[in-house]
Amino acid sequence: VFPPSASDYYQFDDLLTLEERAVRIKVREVMEKEVAPIMTEHWEKAEFPFHVIPKIATMGVAGGNIKGYGCPGLSITGNAIATAEVARVDASCSTFILVHSSLAMLTIALCGSEAQKQEYLPYLAQFHKVACWGLTEPDNGSDASSLMTTATKVEGGWLLDGQKRWIGNSTFADLLVIFARNTKTNQINGFLVKKDVPGLTVTKIENKIGLRIVQNGDIVFKKVFIPDEDRLPGVNSFQDTSKVLAVSRVMVAWQPIGITMGVYDMCHRYLKERKQFGAPLAAFQINQEKLVRMLGNIQAMLLVGWRLCKLYESGKMTPGQASLGKAWITLRARETVSLGRELLGGNGILSDFLIAKAFCDLEPIYTYEGTYDINCLVTGREITGIASFKPAA
Ligand code: FAD
Repeated sequence: VFPPSASDYYQFDDLLTLEERAVRIKVREVMEKEVAPIMTEHWEKAEFPFHVIPKIATMGVAGGNIKGYGCPGLSITGNAIATAEVARVDASCSTFILVHSSLAMLTIALCGSEAQKQEYLPYLAQFHKVACWGLTEPDNGSDASSLMTTATKVEGGWLLDGQKRWIGNSTFADLLVIFARNTKTNQINGFLVKKDVPGLTVTKIENKIGLRIVQNGDIVFKKVFIPDEDRLPGVNSFQDTSKVLAVSRVMVAWQPIGITMGVYDMCHRYLKERKQFGAPLAAFQINQEKLVRMLGNIQAMLLVGWRLCKLYESGKMTPGQASLGKAWITLRARETVSLGRELLGGNGILSDFLIAKAFCDLEPIYTYEGTYDINCLVTGREITGIASFKPAA
């Protein structure tokens, strides 16, 4: 249906199954036809294009690798390819989907009761409702396991008190997956919080320079009552969140892969079309070196991302391997989009040309799902046996 993209230089597509290729084709078609034309305008206004949600739903990717409950049951690789294809056109759209699907829905699938899975997953898979996932707090970012939002047991349920920060989709989410500290056990528990419950307020975080379409919120809980049936029975310690983060960290690593593929394809076209000194920009050796460096980075990122998926699918992926993938891919992607920005000259700073938007969107991705540094420390701990998260006493 589509010509191979210039960025797929080592014929990565050959590594995919027919089903995974079909996912890629479907997602690319919807993103290019339905989503691409409207995203720059919404990015500039920092507004979410709610009218496009039904189009996004037609891609059939919400629920990713969850099997049953109306979810697509993709392979991890298929889910990763879908993530990259969305990010290739618009990183905000990809973050919107990942928060909803690979964080919130996956938490329900892995840690929810049978009744919760049956109640929530089918309509979330159709995007009839939108979900968010709240772990980070104003005073607990990288140190998320020290979170301070509390859950106190009362007759028939729980009272949540505290704050969350940066929570994507939270300003309009119908369902909030929230982590809080059980005041009796001091362990982390998970809760399903419905929009508009008394005591819950969400305020949009303004003035972001990246992922401007994603609506991130500050959330405050003041004695928010959650009935017993909305506690996630499978979240009984912070470690239980790591089952979800193992998958979502792999998916997040595929966002920069998609972003840089989109940037490369745009640069490749631009350099052949625009002329200076009587020749196309592509004719200058310095520009070719930059283009080749971008292409080399992308081939390496694709192969690392692919291997990470295969390790996960065979049950062998370690937390350190996932963290290395996320950290290294975002680092290489930062270099790659910077080169793209340079290659477009002045147009490289205009959001109209995709690259400036991609350049800015990569910054929060470098930071969320564990910053570059924190992911290095996770891998560092695994390869040395020495944890260095806390300064020496
Ligand atoms: P800090 O923890 O304050 O870190 C600041 C700097 O110090 C970083 O460079 C960090 O690497 C470094 N640092 C911290 N500790 C160490 C250490 N031990 N050793 C070395 N360096 C260290 N969270 C959610 O729960 N849900 C969401 O949907 C969500 N979406 C997000 C969307 C966006 C756009 C952004 C920006 C963030 C989002 N987050 C979300 C939060 C995100 O996960 C945190 O921003 C991230 O974990 C970093 O925390 P922090 O911003 O508080 O930085």
